[in-house]
Amino acid sequence: MLILKTNLRYKKITVKVGSNVLTKSDGTLNDANISHLVDQIAFLHQNGVEVVLVSSGAVAAGRGEIGNGRKLDTVSARQLWSAVGQVKMINKWAEAFNNYGIVCAQVLTTKENFSDRVHYLNMKNCISTLIEHKVIPIVNENDTISVTELMFTDNDELSGLIASMEDSEALIILSNIDGIYDGSPELPESKVIREITSKSKPLNEAISTNKSSFGRGGMLTKYHIAKKVAKGGINVHIANGMKENTLLKIMNPAEDFIHTTFLSENKKSSNVKKWISYSESFAKGELVVNQGARDALLSSQATSLLPVGVISIEGTFEKGDLVKIKDKDGKLIGIGKSEYNSEKAEKYKGNKNKKAVVHYDYLYIME
Ligand code: GLU
Repeated sequence: MLILKTNLRYKKITVKVGSNVLTKSDGTLNDANISHLVDQIAFLHQNGVEVVLVSSGAVAAGRGEIGNGRKLDTVSARQLWSAVGQVKMINKWAEAFNNYGIVCAQVLTTKENFSDRVHYLNMKNCISTLIEHKVIPIVNENDTISVTELMFTDNDELSGLIASMEDSEALIILSNIDGIYDGSPELPESKVIREITSKSKPLNEAISTNKSSFGRGGMLTKYHIAKKVAKGGINVHIANGMKENTLLKIMNPAEDFIHTTFLSENKKSSNVKKWISYSESFAKGELVVNQGARDALLSSQATSLLPVGVISIEGTFEKGDLVKIKDKDGKLIGIGKSEYNSEKAEKYKGNKNKKAVVHYDYLYIME
């Protein structure tokens, strides 16, 4: 298939490849799939597309390499497998890219690295430097040290964060099914939903909750991540990475390739807002707001949260910390950076003449 440079749909993409695309059923790495993906990424790279890869497969490859061995608890097993498997997996990518004279690099990260702005900017800088030097960054979670509550839900979550951080035009999530179906993928009458926009009706119930055999993520998490990423201004494609030329077909606007596209809203969120949108788990406190403030925040107008709309404050936080904003019924409305510490916020709540407790520029409103 020939696609001309001018025809490529995007100039900057993040591609997430799931464990099931990268490993065979016995857990060993799937060399043929890896080298076919590299053929496509090399073509894009040589035609000026910036690609960041998010690669799973460390845990699966490690398990394939050394097996279950003597009894281990789940944390130790994951540490053992990922430590062994990451080397195998990254070497496989490096070897395949080397055939095209392309250099790749390993970037391992943890959820904590996204929790403060300084670490976040360090990581952003690292990936940008690699890209400037025409190196393909291959990102994975540092599974050896990220354990239980410090873990990403899965690499789909990680890829959403990376795509947002990098300001990618699109996030392409490759797994072993064709996209999001309108019913169970096993049923013959189910069809792949081709396009999802912010206006599409919620699909939670229609989506199969089956997990893939190797990866941690399932379709439901992909759906939620994709919605959030698209809301931030990035198109998301969920497609079957086992098929021939999937990436190139997605990149070719003339192809009508069956998969699911989440069309982004037109406006791009600022980088700070995008960062905040993924940081719910790092919030240090909560602001409960009255009905008036709730309605104003949820309206289409850009609105800051003023102390007059705050009814109560939970937790102890400093100025600059992230806080959750909830309505009276406990429903999460948004996340934002507090302009006051918890003591001052408590003192100013209900007060009309104080400046915003969360400024619009540092406020992310949930769906
Ligand atoms: N980081 C894990 C690995 O490389 C994969 C997590 C996931 O399945 O999403 O094995």
